Amino acid sequence: MNRRQLLKIGVGLLFTTATMSLASRIATAGQEGMSNQTRKMEKLIMSDDEWREKLTPEQFYILREEGTERPFSSALNDEKRDGTYHCAACEQALFLSNMKFDSGTGWPSFFESIDGAFETKTDFKLIYPRKEYHCSRCGGHHGHIFKDGPPPTGKRWCNNGVALKFIPA
Ligand SMILES: [Zn+2]
Repeated sequence: MNRRQLLKIGVGLLFTTATMSLASRIATAGQEGMSNQTRKMEKLIMSDDEWREKLTPEQFYILREEGTERPFSSALNDEKRDGTYHCAACEQALFLSNMKFDSGTGWPSFFESIDGAFETKTDFKLIYPRKEYHCSRCGGHHGHIFKDGPPPTGKRWCNNGVALKFIPA
């Protein structure tokens, strides 16, 4: 084997290695994309009748008819344990206990929500427009976002307690 042939093999090997590592990088990226997708729960679509069977009348009124519970009526106002707040309708995780704060408003309040848990829209039921948010999985109405929350976000997710299910850590 002469020098020229050796060089050829060397370059060939280098090229193969480079291609392989690129291929494995693409494969890894693909896997990451997939695990992100599988982590997000599939949408849950049910008819009003099916929801009526699954939910209590009060839950139905709030989650499906965009109602609001009376202030200071939820036991979750005083919930201080570590854990996760889930959607009472579809179980999707919405808030962590370390995102909760005592707003004194009479509704469970959070300054942040779990990424991707909600979708928002503007409602004009009162004179001023309010940003209303819905569970991204089942579309259930949970509450409104206000701009008077504490740092670091300055936001207040004002949530109906009836729409939440708390699971202690
Ligand atoms: Zn939900």
